[in-house]
Amino acid sequence: MNAPQALPGNHPSLMNNYQPLPISFTRGEGCRLWDSEGREYLDALAGVAVTSVGHSHPRIVEAIREQAGLLLHTSNLYRIDWQVQLAQQLTALAGMQRAFFCNSGAEANETALKLARLHAQRKGIRQPLVVVMENSFHGRTFATLSASDSPSCQAGFAPLMDGFIKVPFGDVLAIQALAQSHGQRIAAVLVEPVQGESGVQVAPGGYLAALRALCDEQHWLLMLDEIQTGLGRTGRWFAGRHEGVVPDVMTLAKALGNGVPIGACLAAGAAAELFGPGSHGSTFGGNPLACRVACTVLEIMEEEGLVANAERQGRLMLDELRTALKGHPQVLAVRGHGLMIGIDLAFPARHLAELAAREHGVLINIARGQTIRLLPPLTLDDATRQAMVARLLGLLESVR
Ligand SMILES: *Cc1c(COP(=O)(O)O)cnc(C)c1O
Repeated sequence: MNAPQALPGNHPSLMNNYQPLPISFTRGEGCRLWDSEGREYLDALAGVAVTSVGHSHPRIVEAIREQAGLLLHTSNLYRIDWQVQLAQQLTALAGMQRAFFCNSGAEANETALKLARLHAQRKGIRQPLVVVMENSFHGRTFATLSASDSPSCQAGFAPLMDGFIKVPFGDVLAIQALAQSHGQRIAAVLVEPVQGESGVQVAPGGYLAALRALCDEQHWLLMLDEIQTGLGRTGRWFAGRHEGVVPDVMTLAKALGNGVPIGACLAAGAAAELFGPGSHGSTFGGNPLACRVACTVLEIMEEEGLVANAERQGRLMLDELRTALKGHPQVLAVRGHGLMIGIDLAFPARHLAELAAREHGVLINIARGQTIRLLPPLTLDDATRQAMVARLLGLLESVR
């Protein structure tokens, strides 16, 4: 038997769970990155929907510098003023009442799932179920992995957690049927407004509003995982807004800290009153540095009008890609919602991310093996968008 080949960039001192490309970035500015050889790239991925206000935004740099010189961490045993300020700003923006802060998306969803269990307990449900969607992704911890529908992420980790029941994404009738068959055991519905990891799957219009109505009728919590879609990504502050939907529980992470780790679980109404002292916590969660940076991200987004910009740039980019790729024999579909764009290809395309970077100077991600996923910074301007589209078309021309 041949020795296993070392994967590119996979250093033997690191656990073998990633397969990084052998490109190392040393500097970034706005929508651009530079590697250790000084080559420039256009970033159409933003660290997977994280650096929404762009790399090295001067206001973020300044906030980090100043806060690092004042105070990084004191613990949640004391009031943290930046945490209170962030909670006020976020709940006001989202139309929610209370916030809990953690350090990642998975932890935000863990928090949501714990709220669902408490809600079930209040209702006297003994074996509660949370409705989740086919092809969903909610994180890598045991509960969030169990809530996800990703055999490749779950492989080898059995037994997973019970208490989830799965239906097709975008199918209201399937959940209405569950209300008949399992209604008494259901505590909550957990759903991504647009499924990101599975290749930018957009639900039919009216789906979230219909879920809101059903959850109200059944007294289920509607829990929106806005970790990828939230904070302007789809051209609204939160993706539920396209349909006027305010959930009972909303989770955020990715873009909230523009690269400084922070997650949030927001809750409204009765769901906001489920935790009591001691029922949940996090050592690092909500520390002064992360919260101050997140407050700065929100300020930048407001001042630079990034939500409206995401809507406009997303629409233009989708139009340009659709027009140029019409009739391309290898392109099956071009989908999008704001600055979340997916291009389905007719062939296994994992190698395209490296080809795009090396030969065309543009950073992309391949979702589920055959979909190019684009998540550029929300600060994209016309000239940068046009350059990005030109490089993407160059890439797709090379595989025609
Ligand atoms: C990225 C993501 C997560 C997990 O976030 P982590 O910070 O990696 O734990 C959960 N849900 C959605 C929709 C995501 O896009």
